[in-house]
Amino acid sequence: MNRYSIKMRASNKEEGHISGAEKIIPEEELEQYCSRLLARALRHSKGKPDFINLKIEAVKEEEILHLPALNVTTVETSNAGEGMEVVSGYLHRLGLERVEEILALWKQSYAMRGAILLDADTLERLEPDRERGIRATYMDMETEDAARKSACGGKNHFNEALVLATKVVSHPNIIAELCISDDPDYVTGYIASGELGYVRITRLKELGSPDGGRVFLFRGNEREREECIQYLQQQKVLVHNIKEGQEKSVNKWKRIEEELQSLREQHLYREIRVIESSQRAHVRYRNRNMLMLASNSYLDFCDEERIKESASQVLAEYGTGSGGSRLTTGTTVCHIELEETLARFKGRESAVVFNTGFAANGGILPALCRAGDIIYSDELNHASIIDGCRQSRAETVIYRHNDMADLERKIREHPGRQGLIVSDGVFSMDGDIVNLPGLVELADTYGLLSMIDEAHATGVIGATGRGCEEHFHMEGRTDILMGTLSKAIGAEGGYVCGSRTLTEYLKNRARSYIFSTSLSPVTMAAAKRALELIEEEPGRVRRLQENVRWFCSALQENGIDAHSESAIIPIRIGGEEKAMQVSEVLMEQGFFIPAIRYPTVKKGEAMLRAALMATHTKEELSEAAAAIAAAIGQGSIGEL
Ligand SMILES: *Cc1c(COP(=O)(O)O)cnc(C)c1O
Repeated sequence: MNRYSIKMRASNKEEGHISGAEKIIPEEELEQYCSRLLARALRHSKGKPDFINLKIEAVKEEEILHLPALNVTTVETSNAGEGMEVVSGYLHRLGLERVEEILALWKQSYAMRGAILLDADTLERLEPDRERGIRATYMDMETEDAARKSACGGKNHFNEALVLATKVVSHPNIIAELCISDDPDYVTGYIASGELGYVRITRLKELGSPDGGRVFLFRGNEREREECIQYLQQQKVLVHNIKEGQEKSVNKWKRIEEELQSLREQHLYREIRVIESSQRAHVRYRNRNMLMLASNSYLDFCDEERIKESASQVLAEYGTGSGGSRLTTGTTVCHIELEETLARFKGRESAVVFNTGFAANGGILPALCRAGDIIYSDELNHASIIDGCRQSRAETVIYRHNDMADLERKIREHPGRQGLIVSDGVFSMDGDIVNLPGLVELADTYGLLSMIDEAHATGVIGATGRGCEEHFHMEGRTDILMGTLSKAIGAEGGYVCGSRTLTEYLKNRARSYIFSTSLSPVTMAAAKRALELIEEEPGRVRRLQENVRWFCSALQENGIDAHSESAIIPIRIGGEEKAMQVSEVLMEQGFFIPAIRYPTVKKGEAMLRAALMATHTKEELSEAAAAIAAAIGQGSIGEL
């Protein structure tokens, strides 16, 4: 098909520009189209032109680039300010940084006929002629003849803009285009990009405003810039398939899908393992019996008869839910009894129960510390502590793992500041124990609060399982003892023990305590009964501690370096893939012991994290130690 490019421009002295058009049409329509165009210019409402420029050029088929129209999304906005907010949001989404400055430069383009070609990063203006700017021309939409004929009479802002935007952002070096029409009656504008498509913003300026302008955001080198300008000004483009209201163009899930794929490639993707029985020393998994060597239920209390008995009685009497937050209707007798039991167990004046350990840290730290304060946090602290520190807005200073000299050095760098030192009591991945005497002494010397997270310490260390203070024989010395009821206690919930001042304050200030429905009375009863059992039968904690000694020696006899004073015994592997393989071999032999990988531990420091229970037998542990050694050995031979 022979085609022609037509460009018409009509003006007069009073009005300046009156009417303009640009088309690429088949030869057989040329004559009729031109006369319609002239008729439109001559009878324009803005006045009679005294100058009409009609330029007609033949276009060869092979010169034409055919492009599919951008997908269109519409964002409804009710005023110009809101419209600009939307544009700003999309620019951020495209990864641009100097968004405010870009919007300011856009305003400068209002006075220009063409567009600003702006370097998206340096914000340098790249148009060869700054007065005129860059004009994208030689483009049209490919439509049915009838549609074109009917469109000839008037203008369709939307179609013209979509054609232009499609051409412009199809260039690989154009990141986005921003446009507001200078027609005072037309307030809709857009942002377009290859990634977003054409995002139509219904109100981007106030009605009656003559403002209007365009910015092309460019990223590339000098050669690419020349080529891009050439493309915008000379390349003939026909745009196809224009449909208003096409389906949404933005793939909202793009970044998320890409990240998932990348996790899979790095062997960091997490699969959920579904246990087909209660949590106990022997579980059902993949339809077989497995020795559980990874559970935090150290005292094997999740399926304990007397605890279940207590919980069932409360279930029968109090039902399943608590029906409200602690400060409204969600505090039952069971909640209070548990708090009293906890306070007694830990030898403190008072205790508060939170919904989880995670929520406890997220509530305590922001309640006690605020902007201007300082929190000293061990580099291996649990994620919930890290998040709590962030939420507090206090300055967080990370000290080297359990290194009191480093901690003191850092405290001395910030003399006199109000703040807190926080550490895991038993570190959740390595199973080692905080230097509590050192930490408490520094806290007291420098007037800082001391806070210990006893998630893996309660029910595990100390002669009767009371945790870190008992382990170090320094009862009552820590300011804030936080922990969870979800590990050795076998239930759910987090807690804080300390002075009444502390607990009263938290009940009034800790947001995760105040704004969350409290746990069910059943859970409270289970936790309370578990604490009582630890007190009534100290043999259980002792058996757990004996099991740890036994298992570590069994591993050592098999040539594996293993030490621990807690119930967590790390077995270092290194590579993520190797750790996964070893774990899989053990799983197949009936030992449930998963690999721990980044981001839980550092990259390249993957390990098996064995966690023992009081109810494991010595025979089971010896067998497991031998199997672990064999699985690791097998892997290393395979790698040679
Ligand atoms: C598990 C854990 C928590 C979170 O407790 P949950 O009750 O499971 O939310 C907090 N801190 C540490 C050190 C933990 O290991």
